Amino acid sequence: MSDRDIHKALMAEPLVRQMAEAREVFWINPHKTDDPVKHGAEWKKEIAEAEERLRRFAPYIASAFPETEAEGGLIESPLVLINEMKKHLEHSAAQAFPGRLLLKCDDELPISGSIKARGGIYEVLKLAEDLAVKAGMLSADDDYSILTEERFTAFFSKYSIAVGSTGNLGLSIGIIGAKLGFCVTVHMSSDAKQWKKELLREKGVRVIEYEADYSLAVKEGRMQAKQDPYCYFIDDEHSRDLFLGYAVAGSRVKKQLDQMNIKPDADEPLFVYLPCGVGGGPGGVALALKLIYGEHVHIFFGEPTHSPCMLLGLFSGLHDGISVQDIGLDNQTAADGLAVGRPSGLAGPLMEPILSGCYTADDGTLFSLLYQLRAAENKSLEPSALAGLAGAVKVVQTEAGNRYIKERGLEMENAVHLVWSTGGSMVPEEEMEEYSRIGSSFLKKMGRQ
Ligand SMILES: *Cc1c(COP(=O)(O)O)cnc(C)c1O
Repeated sequence: MSDRDIHKALMAEPLVRQMAEAREVFWINPHKTDDPVKHGAEWKKEIAEAEERLRRFAPYIASAFPETEAEGGLIESPLVLINEMKKHLEHSAAQAFPGRLLLKCDDELPISGSIKARGGIYEVLKLAEDLAVKAGMLSADDDYSILTEERFTAFFSKYSIAVGSTGNLGLSIGIIGAKLGFCVTVHMSSDAKQWKKELLREKGVRVIEYEADYSLAVKEGRMQAKQDPYCYFIDDEHSRDLFLGYAVAGSRVKKQLDQMNIKPDADEPLFVYLPCGVGGGPGGVALALKLIYGEHVHIFFGEPTHSPCMLLGLFSGLHDGISVQDIGLDNQTAADGLAVGRPSGLAGPLMEPILSGCYTADDGTLFSLLYQLRAAENKSLEPSALAGLAGAVKVVQTEAGNRYIKERGLEMENAVHLVWSTGGSMVPEEEMEEYSRIGSSFLKKMGRQ
């Protein structure tokens, strides 16, 4: 088939037409399988190595970022029950919300306040270790806090790092990269918030701004890095290291669930809702959770109605061979962290047999939930981070979401809904107030407040 025929066939699909009209959709993935993680043993080994590497770096992290000292230099976030939010959702829908509602607070991750503090920081640390070991300056059994010494920052300053970002990845890589001594250049898409650019410039990071969206910022970064043998490009669309950094979250969450005495099984299914941009962050987490919990974890990705790149890639089977612009969408959304038009070529195919489904949420929904979560739990997230909560609402409270539960005969009384919050603690207060005002006015318009 020619590209044109493929496009025509796709546009004849009711789901794609709804997506093209930027409507909210809920899609159950028919490609999910019972044995979804190929090369599982290999992944487990690599994820364990990533965990080990982060443990080696813990003394360095604790010493370079004192806010992580209490956690012994591990970059981790709390997992909390959000009962008030659950009551709020029950009240506003006049409908019960069976099971427990939990929030994984990656908005509170130290150093850069978003899920990117997992993958982004991990990849930079791995690079630093590789370079220093190769130069004979470091060995695996050293106390890595020596990396704060001037001889190391001087050594790393000979190297540079480039990355393309909608904001948060740049923030993570810029902060850790600059701290270690690297020269970092962040290629920022037009969506990136001004405060993120300013914060990076304050830290001595070079920020290059583009009028275009994320894909172009990445492409430019990749091209510039290619011309410089001392420049390392962090490739959000393909990097296995980034992916592994995110995947470390799996065993950490398991530990937290264990501590809450939650052991997912047939009578206590675990539902996980993750905001998705290019797919690496939620993809790494999803793969790790699938390795741990198998059929008892049900994972959904949420995207903005204007940027449903993962859903489009999975539905069409074309993965990074199609963009949301190809179906006429503009990729414009207030959820800047998710403003991605084309999915990761690594994460898309990996997610195909794993995901239970994808859904979209429009900006109004995200802002409304932002306001409600602030009111109910005094928890302030950036708009992107609410795409998880939107999924829990859809699965529990909509016909389309319920279909997934009914078809599988799932027992929901003891279900655990784990909503992944992906960013927000670094958003300036005035900006957060503005988000909240927008959310409040959306709710008023819908007569829900
Ligand atoms: C980047 C980001 C995501 C999604 O991660 P991807 O790897 O792009 O899919 C979700 N939420 C926030 C706040 C982000 O910054």
